[in-house]
Amino acid sequence: MARRINKLKKPATRTLESDLHTHVYTNYRYQASRRFLEEGFRDLTRLTKLCVNGGLGIVGVTNFTDWNYEFWTSSRQLGDLPADWRQYQDERVTYIETEQGKGLYLVKSEEIPTDKGHLLLIGCPRGKNIGKGNLSEVLGKAGQDPLITIVADHPYMGRIGLRGEIDRVAIRLDALEYNSNCSRAENKKAEQEAQRLGKPLIANSDSHRPQDIGIARTNFLAEDLRYSCGENFVGSLRLNIIGTKFGVEKGSLGLPAKLEHVGLLIAYNVLRWIPGFTDIVD
Ligand SMILES: [Zn+2]
Repeated sequence: MARRINKLKKPATRTLESDLHTHVYTNYRYQASRRFLEEGFRDLTRLTKLCVNGGLGIVGVTNFTDWNYEFWTSSRQLGDLPADWRQYQDERVTYIETEQGKGLYLVKSEEIPTDKGHLLLIGCPRGKNIGKGNLSEVLGKAGQDPLITIVADHPYMGRIGLRGEIDRVAIRLDALEYNSNCSRAENKKAEQEAQRLGKPLIANSDSHRPQDIGIARTNFLAEDLRYSCGENFVGSLRLNIIGTKFGVEKGSLGLPAKLEHVGLLIAYNVLRWIPGFTDIVD
């Protein structure tokens, strides 16, 4: 078991590269993607090595009306980390440090399918989901927590982005998202609209397989973030996003991964109209 430390640590690196939107393995709990859950590894030690060896310092493990973040950061997972590693956890951050001193800050994101399209919330508290609701309800709940960054994720992707709603709710959005699952045209539109609205554009993978984590990144200067506790950490993430104090790496998924993702999207859109599936998918 990794040694528990009582304070969040500052990184030794000059920059912190992040992917604030990954599902690790996909978490739609329906047939089309169940094989990801069954085939994939479910081991935090392995996930941490994958992330830190890929140069990532912050990863947003994303809940999709489920408990994905809580699974990956459970006391059982932390208990199985190597004895010469270190770990810290509070309500907003789980920090893991390998024996080589490489640190990984895990934060919780929530991706919420509202009636008007998806919203991504970054920096949510552990053990509580904002959960389902229509767009204004979800924006209202998320807006009560000043530590949460509210993002229009893949805003122009098919029917699952906010698209035409963005103008109406722009004042309540902190950022738009470049998403590695989107087509070039969809991402270009997101970038143009972000510019028109004066909103920052962060970049995330929205990966559904671990090997795709970090394909798109949002990178911060380590000295710009705060490390006194998880609340300060995610709060400073939001301030840096709002203030456009970050750089982006706009990678794109390869065609096979994109096709798998398209398959999931089709399944998602079909199943949400079948009675009885709504409580699972929405
Ligand atoms: Zn997603």
